[in-house]
Amino acid sequence: MNSETFDKLLKMAKSNKVSFRTDMSFAQLTTVGTGGKVRVAFFPNDMRKLVRTLRALNKLRVPFVVLGRGSNVLASDKFFDGAAVVTIRLNKFTLRKNRVTAQCGASAAAIAKALADKGLSGGEFLACLPATAGGATAGNAGCFGEDVSRVFVKAKALCDGKIRTVKREACRFAKRDSVFKRKNWTVLSVTMEFEPSSPSAVRKTIAEMRQKKARTQPLNAKSAGCVLFHENASVSRLIDEAGFKGYRVGGAQVSPKHAGFVLNIDKATSSDIYLIIRRLQKALQTNFGICAKTEVRLVNFGDDDIFTESKN
Ligand SMILES: Cc1cc2nc3c(=O)[nH]c(=O)nc-3n(C[C@H](O)[C@H](O)[C@H](O)COP(=O)(O)OP(=O)(O)OC[C@H]3O[C@@H](n4cnc5c(N)ncnc54)[C@H](O)[C@@H]3O)c2cc1C
Repeated sequence: MNSETFDKLLKMAKSNKVSFRTDMSFAQLTTVGTGGKVRVAFFPNDMRKLVRTLRALNKLRVPFVVLGRGSNVLASDKFFDGAAVVTIRLNKFTLRKNRVTAQCGASAAAIAKALADKGLSGGEFLACLPATAGGATAGNAGCFGEDVSRVFVKAKALCDGKIRTVKREACRFAKRDSVFKRKNWTVLSVTMEFEPSSPSAVRKTIAEMRQKKARTQPLNAKSAGCVLFHENASVSRLIDEAGFKGYRVGGAQVSPKHAGFVLNIDKATSSDIYLIIRRLQKALQTNFGICAKTEVRLVNFGDDDIFTESKN
């Protein structure tokens, strides 16, 4: 980005009172704690500011990535000469009757807690995701047989520059996939619907899910969640069968507890993690004929990039 473009961006941010920082790295913006510096990170705290920021980036042709909690992102160690737009300050949601409408940066766990207090069922799995509503919708996140597509009603999104309401049928949800992910549309807010139950029943289910997750997954280590997935196969079981549990490259390691997770155990670089991911993919192909897709979103890696140009 040349200095003229950069100045224009900062001018936009200042005139719209959008908070920004120019001293951040992806290591600070992602749960795995790796990744290089980013030229500028924006932290809009209302919808108008978010949309203005995205439109300015698009108009100025600045590459950018939208981030929620960064719990499913691996950014390369290289300097990213673009922008990160972080949604976590857009964290409000309303609960009316059996529907929640959440701003994209609302915490999934906070939504789950409100649902439990109101005795609404179907969103218990949200309590297990270190996610924002927008990130979870884009990746159709889920666990224990549930995912966002099952409770989703509609989203407001910035789709190729236009604000649209996207209904369920148009989302083309699939395993860890949606139209938002495929088209790089930004989810601004999402409406989800739940079933009447009782607070005690919902809390019990959440507690059981959380216990199971804590028993089987390395929740206290730095990671980006499961790195690979396949529509029909249990990738983590196959990685385990292939003997990769505990496999190390530099400071990164395939979790000895759950083979789907690659951990940053000792000052890992994104390259360490990336190398492990590619080796796992190769082993799955060679040993089982499985073509596993990356679940973690790769940023600024080159050929594999999903977000290296502005699309909104
Ligand atoms: C310990 C741990 C456990 C996990 N367990 C699970 C699990 O059980 N099930 C599961 O599915 N995942 C799990 N994950 C992965 C991760 O939490 C989910 O994928 C989550 O939905 C990502 O949400 P996020 O807000 O952090 O998104 P980010 O990681 O910030 O972003 C993920 C992707 O979504 C895009 N994105 C973010 N916000 C928006 C938006 N508003 N509009 C459009 N696109 C957007 C980003 O550009 C990026 O491509 C786990 C991760 C960790 C670290």
